Amino acid sequence: MKGHQEIPNTSLDSLRPSVFEQFYGQEKAVGRLQLMVEAAQKRGDVLRHILLSGPPGLGKTTLANIIGGTVGTNVKTTSGPLLEKAGDLVGLLTDVPHGGVLFIDEIHRLQPAIEEYLYSAMEDFRLDIVIDQGPSARSIRLNLAKFTLIGATTRSGMISSPLRSRFDMTCRLDYYSVTHLQKIVERSASLLDLPIDAASASEIARRSRGTPRIANNLLHWVRDYAQVRFSGIVTQEIVVRALTMLEIDEEGVDRMDKHILEVLIGKFDGGPVGINSLAVAVGEEVGTLEEVHEPYLIMQGYLQRTAHGRVATARAYQKIGISSPVPHESIPK
Ligand code: ADP
Repeated sequence: MKGHQEIPNTSLDSLRPSVFEQFYGQEKAVGRLQLMVEAAQKRGDVLRHILLSGPPGLGKTTLANIIGGTVGTNVKTTSGPLLEKAGDLVGLLTDVPHGGVLFIDEIHRLQPAIEEYLYSAMEDFRLDIVIDQGPSARSIRLNLAKFTLIGATTRSGMISSPLRSRFDMTCRLDYYSVTHLQKIVERSASLLDLPIDAASASEIARRSRGTPRIANNLLHWVRDYAQVRFSGIVTQEIVVRALTMLEIDEEGVDRMDKHILEVLIGKFDGGPVGINSLAVAVGEEVGTLEEVHEPYLIMQGYLQRTAHGRVATARAYQKIGISSPVPHESIPK
């Protein structure tokens, strides 16, 4: 069957923390998850279902694997769009042992028909499957082992309420502070055997848009750059040069973010413009704009989401070096 893989907790990604203690930041979410795990263990019960939400690269998959490791089970991993037919889900669910964890990434992209099977699986640990059609149609019941579903989504608003209500706990992950990202960079550098001082790690952290995955990617790039140009030595100045070469500025704003602001201001007079038109004009998928670029631009105060569409703020004009035609306050909400 396609669409899933067994991921051992000693993940292929060597930078992925494998225990809660190595997972920096997100204290509230981590605190709740640790408590839930501990309570389940004390009762000798199976952990209840958990939904993790937040932008890509913030640690949802990592947390799912840490939880699996803490309760002592391997995590079976799949993704909403990979489950094409009910049989894919049935195959996965019947394979999860008692106390096992099934991780469904991008759970908001599950097909409705498949999602419905999940309801009884999550609630009563059984599946009622209809086989055949017309007069010969009949339903068979499959009892499942008691398991934990961990769902992850970058779009919690797109999760139907019947599905959402079947999760016992929803944890939202937020962008990381520079301090936490700096610790993540320092930990990753030591795993990569790369000597790095606090100022260099902090410079990378500042430019990582609050996202550990980006911090690790930038660290890899800085290592390559330093190796080729400076025989492996990393200093703050070398970090700045390396990231300038990638067109990532001191706030982590990258080429695409800038392009979005330039198009919004240059082609649409600063908005309001609908997300679909903006996506066509910048040549990017709507989903990527909504999940990756927009949240960061909004958080940094460059973009506003209004009832009429996206609007550039006075700060956005400043960023791309054009004087704002309208005072910030008078931009329609
Ligand atoms: P998501 O599933 O939310 O897209 P991941 O769990 O795949 O994100 O995390 C992306 C990468 O960032 C991981 O490979 C991991 O190395 C790193 N990472 C994420 N969160 C943390 C954290 N809190 N501490 C250390 N590293 C982290």
